[in-house]
Amino acid sequence: MNMYGWCEGCRSIALEGYCSVHGETRPILEINKIDACPLPEFEKEFLNARMDRLKLGEGIFLIYGDRMLHSTVVALDKPLVEIKVTKDGVRITPLTKGEVKGMSPDSLWNANSHRLNRLVKVTKSFARQELEQNKNAIISFSGGKDSIVLAHLLEEYGLKKVFIDTTIEFPETYRFIEALKKKSWNIDVARAEKSFFKLLPEKGYPARKNRWCCKTQKFNPFERYIKEHFGEETISVFGAERRWESLYRIDQPFKKQHKYISNQYSIHIMLDWTAMDVWIYTWKHSLPVNEIYHYYDRGGCWPCPFGLTYRSFLMEHAHPKLYSFLDKVGAISKSYGVSIRPCMEGKPMKHLVFSNEHLMNIVAKLIPSVCDTFEIHNTNRVICVPANLSNVKLKALVKEARTGLIGAH
Ligand code: SF4
Ligand SMILES: [Zn+2]
Repeated sequence: MNMYGWCEGCRSIALEGYCSVHGETRPILEINKIDACPLPEFEKEFLNARMDRLKLGEGIFLIYGDRMLHSTVVALDKPLVEIKVTKDGVRITPLTKGEVKGMSPDSLWNANSHRLNRLVKVTKSFARQELEQNKNAIISFSGGKDSIVLAHLLEEYGLKKVFIDTTIEFPETYRFIEALKKKSWNIDVARAEKSFFKLLPEKGYPARKNRWCCKTQKFNPFERYIKEHFGEETISVFGAERRWESLYRIDQPFKKQHKYISNQYSIHIMLDWTAMDVWIYTWKHSLPVNEIYHYYDRGGCWPCPFGLTYRSFLMEHAHPKLYSFLDKVGAISKSYGVSIRPCMEGKPMKHLVFSNEHLMNIVAKLIPSVCDTFEIHNTNRVICVPANLSNVKLKALVKEARTGLIGAH
């Protein structure tokens, strides 16, 4: 299958390289990533403000590449801008000159209607089959673009939508859920027992090998909800996972038994949808859109450290308060803490080396409570304390300082 062609007749991208109206298209070889998505309005402004030879005008632009790591290119029928995330910030290089306009939702639909109609048909028939076998079913509903499309595809069945409140959703998502409930959308909220920031001092910032919050903030409240409403009965949970979202999802089956909850089956009928399919469907049916997509290409937990590298540059401007809080707790500098090292010059001291200035300032205020002799070196974020001061005491102090930081939120 040849993904991505440019149809000059429609002035639109055809996702399978074949236009529903005009047939053959010109292949766009530069797009090497299937899950390209539209450039959010805020990001477009962010780029426009930083480019001097090019202006992205009206219409829909696509962005592809790996935004978390190094480079991303924005495309119409050709690469227009290159974005690189370096340790000093974002480097933006216009690859062309002048003002460039994008596509329209209508032209996208027209060029891709055969693909979308086929996807809708297949997806609905999976759902019908599943619901014929099991009437106990709900929709796992995040308030994101994919779950809105899923809810629309399953509208005729009147299934309950369950939103898991991790306590760290973007404010836009909370507003969106409330607005939908006011419009009589059938939504239940399953809230995590404790807030993420209450648990943070004790558990540390989530890391690849320590994703504790996925359990406490997502899995546990959902499990509780299922138990309360369905007990031991078999239940089908429709979710909007797509295989192009991540490598982990690439070979997921459409239906699978839950790893830990034996009476629960996860049903992912949208696995073959790409981000662009979801957007084109959303525009075609004028579905409600969470405002979070004005800023980012995905919602989810705002303090999540995964994929934060590029998002943090946008957050600094789009959500300055949340950004500054993330900075304070050390998520931006990618380190949450402090390391304790012996003095390299052989003095009877040890060094607390901080990666986070705010944390150091709070520890500096607390340090007189545990020792009289200490030195603070602001320039290299080091506090020197006597070597015989126990690490247990020091760690307790740092923990208290972190709690102070988090309490200020
Ligand atoms: S998505 Fe990120 S922040 Fe949210 S629960 Fe999972 S690891 Fe934690
Ligand atoms: Zn066409």
